[in-house]
Amino acid sequence: MICAQSADPPSLESQLERVQELNTTAPWRETRALLDEIEPRLGEATPEQRADFWLIRARNQTLAGNMERALGQLEKLFDKPLTRKQEVRAYALAANIAILLRRWEDTFDYLNRALQLAGRLEAAGSSNVPFSLAAYVYAKIGETGQAIDYGQRSVDLARKHGSARDVCINQGRLAFVYKTAEMFELARSHYREAIETCGETGDELVTGTIESGLGDLLRATGDFERAEELFRQALPRLRETDYQFGLGEARFYKARLHWEQGELETTEQLLEQALSPLEDDEAWDYVAEAYGMLSEIETGRGNHEQALAYTRQQLEARERFLDLERARQLAHLQVAFDMRSREQELALLREQQRVSELQAESRRHQDRLRWLAYGFGGFLFLTLTLLLIRVLRERRHFRRLAGLDSLTKLNNHTRFFDSARMMVDKAHHDHSPLVLALGDIDYFKHVNDEFGHIAGDRALKEVARVLRETFPGSANIGRIGGEEFALCLPEETIEYALPRLDALREALEMINYGGNSKPLTMSFGVAELEPDEPLEELRRRADEALYRAKHSGRNSVVIADPD
Ligand code: GH3
Ligand code: MG
Ligand code: MG
Repeated sequence: MICAQSADPPSLESQLERVQELNTTAPWRETRALLDEIEPRLGEATPEQRADFWLIRARNQTLAGNMERALGQLEKLFDKPLTRKQEVRAYALAANIAILLRRWEDTFDYLNRALQLAGRLEAAGSSNVPFSLAAYVYAKIGETGQAIDYGQRSVDLARKHGSARDVCINQGRLAFVYKTAEMFELARSHYREAIETCGETGDELVTGTIESGLGDLLRATGDFERAEELFRQALPRLRETDYQFGLGEARFYKARLHWEQGELETTEQLLEQALSPLEDDEAWDYVAEAYGMLSEIETGRGNHEQALAYTRQQLEARERFLDLERARQLAHLQVAFDMRSREQELALLREQQRVSELQAESRRHQDRLRWLAYGFGGFLFLTLTLLLIRVLRERRHFRRLAGLDSLTKLNNHTRFFDSARMMVDKAHHDHSPLVLALGDIDYFKHVNDEFGHIAGDRALKEVARVLRETFPGSANIGRIGGEEFALCLPEETIEYALPRLDALREALEMINYGGNSKPLTMSFGVAELEPDEPLEELRRRADEALYRAKHSGRNSVVIADPD
């Protein structure tokens, strides 16, 4: 019955597939035999196959009642590389074992792990197992809302990715949850659908369990006849499978039905059969209810001593049930609290992370702005500096222009006498000599009249050029009127000036201004600065000398009289 005999030994893969199937359908002893056969071949298995093997082994050990060993097996497996799907299976199985061991905190730990991992599975690989288990556990602790959510999800997942058996089991479980929540209409429709699906699978155990569940529901809603019929179908099926708890539960449900109909003897018989498997499974709520019924039956018979004994047992079972429930509730609250505080911690960390990111961003922003401001400031500074340099240069230029005669580029009247005044002051201060010469072009009116103003202007420019060439260096040369020029020669004496003025007059004759039939001549009055003599006095003396030069026949240089 283990596997088909053939010439070649079966492949490891096919053996693993076979054992996987046996694990859910056959009694655990058969599966264990095949597992023992496979174990020596594990050396040739892939890590994934090896993990599969140990998962099946753990489940098999659980079925054989070796729950501690199974849990140890799983704990070892958690450290090994597993596929996401295997992880979900392993944690769901661990949660299942923890339920059987009544370790509620572990139950919720494993269950939450399985649920989290299952949530991250891709659609195709989704497993209904953790959700189905969660529906059961949450119904047990009275969290019906959550139980219904999980149950609904497990049914959806089973419909999408599971077998008909999965659908049937999950629907049955969801129906049970609805029944517990006293949502009888929904419970009934889910039971009915479950039974239909179960019929296709031929799984007597599951079908029987669900039929008895529906039977109890129909009893609760007053439909005694159909309830009776369902128990008639369910009980033989469950007897067949030797599923003791299922059988006990079905008998207990049936006892409830007879109790309500006042059939006390049948009730008593059924309860006596049901009690031992219910106690084995620690279904203390059912046990308490059963003793309660038995006590009342005995009271009715006037058998008070027996009735009292049953009542004591009822109270004890009640106590145990409450203990169990409290432990489950506490574990749930503890784990829920752990999860919540972990979530809050995470949220806090996330918030802190966000704050520091925002701070960094704003710092970057400020830096950018600062650099922008620096850049702009620098640009502004540079522009203003350049502008200032230009303005200063232009101002200097205009100032110079303002002090210059536009035609000859010699100093104009104002500039000439301002400079002359400074030179006179310096000469007085240094006790150094200084010469002032005033010159006037002779008969210049005729030049204009005969050769035109343009020729006249050209003549004025040429005179300026010759003046500059004759007196280079520190001489202050100006055009102080139309055809009147002036020379201020600091640190020089009349002796220095006279020969140069004579040379100048000679050079004037050579000037080509476009009217050469009439060579230019100039008359000069020259005066040397006397001690403490003001500029005005010096100028007056030079002017007087010039006047004399004009009147003595022009084209000459006349030295001013001393004051
Ligand atoms: P004198 O020998 O007595 O100085 O005779 P003059 O003709 O030079 O003297 P006057 O003062 O009578 O005439 C000066 C002339 O100079 C009058 C004017 O036509 C001319 N003149 C003055 N400024 C300019 C100028 O900027 N350009 C030209 N082309 N002629 C000018
Ligand atoms: Mg004149
Ligand atoms: Mg003149």
